[in-house]
Amino acid sequence: MSPYVSRPMEYEAGQGKYLEDNEWEADIRKPEKRRPGQMDLKQAALERDGHQCRNCGCLVLSETSHVDHIKPVRKFASFEQANTLDNVQTLCLYCHKQKSRSEREV
Ligand SMILES: [Zn+2]
Repeated sequence: MSPYVSRPMEYEAGQGKYLEDNEWEADIRKPEKRRPGQMDLKQAALERDGHQCRNCGCLVLSETSHVDHIKPVRKFASFEQANTLDNVQTLCLYCHKQKSRSEREV
C-alpha cells in the first residue's frame, strides 16, 4: 500500500475557474485582517470625515471607529471596487453595530 494513493491533486495555477470568487468571499469574512491596504483606507476616511462618526457626529479614534462601506461590498463586482474612499465612511463602534444589524435584518 502506498501512503500517497489518496493524496489530493496538486494545485495547478489557472485551473480553478472559481479562484477569484473564493478569494472574494474570504475577503468579506475578514476584510480588515486580510487586506493591509484597508488600514490606509480607514485612516484616509477618518481624516476626510474629521475624526467624526458620519452618523451621530461623535468624535472617534482609529480604535473606536469602523470604516463602513456605504454601498455593501456584495453590490460590487469585486472587493477592490467597493474599497474606495468614495464608498467608505467613518462610523463609531455603536453606529456600525446598529447599521450591520439593520442590514442583516433586511
Ligand atoms: Zn456614531
